Amino acid sequence: MSHRLQAAHVNGLTIGASTAVVSFWSGPAVLLTIVVAHLVIVVATAVGRSGRCTVEVVAAAAFVAIEADIAVSVLLSGGVSSPLLVLAVIPVLSQCVCFRPQVMWVGAAISVLLIGAAVAGAHGLPALEPAPDWMYLFSYVGLVVSLTLAATLMANVHLGSRDDAAIDALTGLYNRKTLADHFAATVRVASTSQGVVGAIMADVDHFKSVNDTHGHERGDVVLQAVAQRLKGALRAGTPVFRLGGEEFFVLLSASTPGELAGVAERLRACIAADPVAGLPVTVSLGVASSSAGDDLVLADLLQAADRAMYAAKSAGRNCVQTASATDTELPLGVPLPAAG
Ligand code: GH3
Ligand code: MG
Ligand code: MG
Repeated sequence: MSHRLQAAHVNGLTIGASTAVVSFWSGPAVLLTIVVAHLVIVVATAVGRSGRCTVEVVAAAAFVAIEADIAVSVLLSGGVSSPLLVLAVIPVLSQCVCFRPQVMWVGAAISVLLIGAAVAGAHGLPALEPAPDWMYLFSYVGLVVSLTLAATLMANVHLGSRDDAAIDALTGLYNRKTLADHFAATVRVASTSQGVVGAIMADVDHFKSVNDTHGHERGDVVLQAVAQRLKGALRAGTPVFRLGGEEFFVLLSASTPGELAGVAERLRACIAADPVAGLPVTVSLGVASSSAGDDLVLADLLQAADRAMYAAKSAGRNCVQTASATDTELPLGVPLPAAG
């Protein structure tokens, strides 16, 4: 179910429960409003599922139904002194899961109009006995539960969209957009520990031939398996990125450039050691490092690691080459011997 309709359902449930309790004091007429609002939500959900209306329109219909339900319940249960009055806030707040700010202001205006009309209309009805205190308390609890559920939903929507934006859909690794944040964090760690900031670029060798020989889908499975192996060979929490295609990238702090080269060699060996998704796969890796000064620029480190990776390709693939962020020219050092 879409988060918009989920919000409508959550609100409908708590408001319905409070209205049912209040009906014991104000009379059963308020229960009719629950039935009507419920029917509107069921119809709106069915229309939404059939795809005949956009989900925004369906959610808007559901929210107006809930707000109208509350207004009629308020009208029938004492107007301004109704224990249900506080519940009118719920749809107004939970709109932020569903609509743009401009639409939310329209929703807020609709709420004020409906509740205003209900409060005014209640003056024309016979006065009710004052409601017992516990009914106000019950409505307040309903309000708190509903708002907490709506806030949870909003947090999930927020975290979900943040993850969608940060994570590569095929491999589950971080994508390019998150490089800057992770770079800043790695620089902080390296400064604190007086170590170096390291970048490892890894590119799958002859990957095009995997696609050409075994098909694109098998190629995707190989990329997923490579991603998992790289992650598994690193300390938990080390950010691993898929920069695009068959190119992976690792950011980490280490005490010395030599330690970084060792990590890269471990990554190379973990891919080459056993078939990946049933196929012999190797990667070429480029390593770059620099001390964590203010003048260290991510793009320079990336470029240096990239150049070193291309040097590893030139050196025969399935090997590691190192560079430093200030290097401007190839060649970039001696390839580490490929194990086995
Ligand atoms: P090299 O050893 O020089 O890196 O050779 P290569 O074949 O790995 O490099 P090349 O750049 O020629 O080919 C990369 C291939 O990766 C081409 C492209 O179709 C494939 N590719 C890019 N993204 C994806 C993807 O998401 N899934 C699959 N299956 N293939 C992809
Ligand atoms: Mg490649
Ligand atoms: Mg490539």
